[in-house]
Amino acid sequence: MSSSRRPNSEKEFERAQKVIPGGVNSPARAFGAVGGHPVIIDRGEGQYLYDIDGNRYIDFVGSWGPHILGHRHPRVISSIEEALKKGTSFGAPTLLETELAELVADLVPCVEKIRMVNSGTEAGMSAIRLARGYTGRDKVIKFAGCYHGHVDSLLVQAGSGALTLGTPSSPGVPQGCTADTLVLEYNDIAQLKETFTQLGDQIACVILEPVVGNMGVVLPEPGFLESVRDLCTQHGSVFIMDEVMTGFRVALGGAQQRFNIMPDICMLGKVIGGGMPVGAYGGKAEIMDAISPVGTIYQAGTLSGNPIAMASGIATLECLREANPYPQLEEKTQRLTKGLIAAATKAGLEHTLAECGSMFTLFFNPEKVTSYAISARNDTTRFARYFQGMLDRGVYLPCSQFEANFTSTMLTEEDIAHTIQAAEEVLQEIA
Ligand code: PMP
Repeated sequence: MSSSRRPNSEKEFERAQKVIPGGVNSPARAFGAVGGHPVIIDRGEGQYLYDIDGNRYIDFVGSWGPHILGHRHPRVISSIEEALKKGTSFGAPTLLETELAELVADLVPCVEKIRMVNSGTEAGMSAIRLARGYTGRDKVIKFAGCYHGHVDSLLVQAGSGALTLGTPSSPGVPQGCTADTLVLEYNDIAQLKETFTQLGDQIACVILEPVVGNMGVVLPEPGFLESVRDLCTQHGSVFIMDEVMTGFRVALGGAQQRFNIMPDICMLGKVIGGGMPVGAYGGKAEIMDAISPVGTIYQAGTLSGNPIAMASGIATLECLREANPYPQLEEKTQRLTKGLIAAATKAGLEHTLAECGSMFTLFFNPEKVTSYAISARNDTTRFARYFQGMLDRGVYLPCSQFEANFTSTMLTEEDIAHTIQAAEEVLQEIA
């Protein structure tokens, strides 16, 4: 049933596969875990995506996070158009870079100084190098199921597409690259303390997603983030909060504001670029000034701080600051998630739902998911059928159990009702 509604997508995907590995430029987009072929998108408008066969979908992916304001927000588009009139890239400073940096420093508690890059991956790679250079130490603590981009040293038991496609630790990463990466269980305070007791003076940094989105949504248990903060302070290690997904998403000031925990450095991406390629890392001025050209730790980029991308980011953050849509967006999201829970309960399906602000995951797993070990026990076959059933009813979800769903400010009550109705039908069907 699904393919017949999307003949052009099917045909064009065949064509793409001949020249692009797997037909996709990022594996998380492949339908590897859910079957069938990806939907090829023609355009987005507000909360909707339109494919090249003319089908419309309510979008719960939002380009994997950036589109908290929906697609083609008028102010974002006009800001990009204005910037385009002046040129696309100069490789020299512009006012737009300072403007976005000031905005972020104003909104995100830990940011005193910030450096723009082009992706979350670059932000992660650079933040790790900075922490190591600043502390003069090598070891990095990360948590299983967290994803921080495809950085060699962090591609160990990683989440997101790596987890979905069964390669959480990638071939092609030499052992030497990961020898100093210590992988611990998320939310396991005792294990973290023990590791610091043994190796504290060698640990450059702890890097984590303050709310995990990349093994499905997993929340920090009470005390977990506090323990990371305390242990890093006690042992002189840098606390890196990866807010690529949670930044400007779970609160205007990110998870650090929502949970009131101050990291030393945070990584940003997704919403900060409003759909253009932007990543950033920022934090304490004293640490940030260890980067070249003030300090000696090298990090650079031909297109970093690109004016079109900065214009898109500035308009997005200004809209968010002026409208403060977070309380309403969260309420709206809860109306949706309550409906999904009720639908799963009515169908008699084992499930649990985790949410934070405008991100959530419906897990086909009766246990509360607090770690990678528990997330891995999900019924992914059932998820695949859920995904396909929803797609056929015009609801575009992330194509993996191990990802977060995102809502946007454009989502209407009608969209919510449609989505819940679709879920009721599909969950009955697959029970
Ligand atoms: N960190 C987190 C928390 C992410 O969710 C992602 C991307 N999903 C990244 C880093 C990497 O960002 P990018 O894909 O822009 O390289």
